[in-house]
Amino acid sequence: MEPGTDTGFLASVRGMFDKAAAALGVAPDLVETIRECNSVIQLRFPVRLRGRYRTFCGWRAVHSEHRLPVKGGIRFAPMVDQQEVEALAALMTFKCALVDVPFGGAKGGLAIRPKDYTEEELERITRRFTQELADHGYIGPSRDVPAPDMGTGEREMAWMADEYRALYPSDIDALACVTGKPATQGGIPGRQQATGRGVQYVVGEYFEHREDVARCGLEGGLEGKRVIVQGFGNVGFNAAQYLVDNEGVLLVGVIERDGAVLCDAGLSPHALAEHRAETGGVTGFPGTQYVADSARALSYDCDILIPAAMENQITVANAADIKAPLIVEAANGPVTFDAERVLLKRNKVVLPDLLVNAGGVTVSYFEWVSNVSHMRFGRLSRQLDVQRSLRIVEMIEKSTGKPVPDELKAPLLRGTEELDLVRSGLDDTMRGAYRDVRRVMLENDAIEDLRTAAFAVALEKVERSYREMGLA
Ligand code: NAD
Repeated sequence: MEPGTDTGFLASVRGMFDKAAAALGVAPDLVETIRECNSVIQLRFPVRLRGRYRTFCGWRAVHSEHRLPVKGGIRFAPMVDQQEVEALAALMTFKCALVDVPFGGAKGGLAIRPKDYTEEELERITRRFTQELADHGYIGPSRDVPAPDMGTGEREMAWMADEYRALYPSDIDALACVTGKPATQGGIPGRQQATGRGVQYVVGEYFEHREDVARCGLEGGLEGKRVIVQGFGNVGFNAAQYLVDNEGVLLVGVIERDGAVLCDAGLSPHALAEHRAETGGVTGFPGTQYVADSARALSYDCDILIPAAMENQITVANAADIKAPLIVEAANGPVTFDAERVLLKRNKVVLPDLLVNAGGVTVSYFEWVSNVSHMRFGRLSRQLDVQRSLRIVEMIEKSTGKPVPDELKAPLLRGTEELDLVRSGLDDTMRGAYRDVRRVMLENDAIEDLRTAAFAVALEKVERSYREMGLA
């Protein structure tokens, strides 16, 4: 590679890891043990479609089994390859460690363009891929638990869970073999929106620390900040809607594959999602300026840029043009290692992927726990909550001699729903993780950026676990 050029996603993740390991002074032999994937499998399998056999190729990489099961999404995308899956698996190990989710890291991918297939065909391909993963020991509730990622969602997870259950009918925990399932198939409320909601919580927490905000040159709170989101899929749409609806940001641009739409006054994520569902793209969304060159729109003026599409979007080729002072990595790996150096020199702040998008795996963990315990969260305590609230309301009414207004009483008497618990756990996890990361950055002179600090928090935990298990 030429100096000053990007070195690819896997090399980028290795570079980020090495920087944190050096700052912590981790022994070089252990650095290599922890950095590389423990195992990777390539699976080629035929599926008979439209009267002929088509061969598909997929991968599953297991990065670290210091905690079991290992966990990580399954991506359906045409350009997916082994290196990409390895890079994503490594990120999963550190992401889980950072947010105290007791899983090792893994990731899977199938090289396929889902749009080229009917739903029935996709189901057959997904089921066959599941059989291959099961045959080779790369799926199972106590071993390896996939989740949705680019190009997959609840539907694919339901097919995978059902196929696994058919293969192992006596496994009482079979449903826990994947997370991100529909709520009616063992899923948990709020999982689909979890990554985007987690983005809102982390950004919200960042803006609670005025000195952190000042570091990127912004001032004041989150309300009214001008945001551009790249990628309007699961993560991008949900992050945008929660930031607009709950934090009062202005969504001044959305960048998609078919172009970008910009609007200084702010656009509605809900209306744009409807437009996209009707037309297949963002192009032609009323009241916005259309820019055909999606990549160029990344360097438009805004306060917060949220790349939520895919890796390698901000590279040395465009890092010098990025205007946003704050870059929030909702996608995995959107800023390359080399590009980040350019951004940091320009005093930009990057909130790193392993922190920002950890909401997905956090709620996946809740789902898995609920599956293996065979019980919905809150089932034992909801009525108790309601009775206690009722008693408090009665006491207030008795001592004041006035009725408590219905609008104040109703939320108390509803009790705590499973979704309330999921949101509360996610909120607490994401904000706590940001505070851990900033503390490590402030306490350690050798750490100057939030990504290195996030890797350092995670690496310390993984390293300790290797040492305690006697693997080091
Ligand atoms: P998705 O498939 O739902 O959405 C991705 C969106 O990005 C799509 O709308 C696509 O059209 C758009 N896109 C792709 N390439 C683009 C480009 N070059 N320019 C503009 N738009 C582009 O995927 P997702 O689940 O939202 O995942 C997005 C990113 O977030 C990925 O990096 C993924 O690994 C990461 N992530 C996802 C989750 C999750 O829970 N889904 C969790 C953690 C991290």
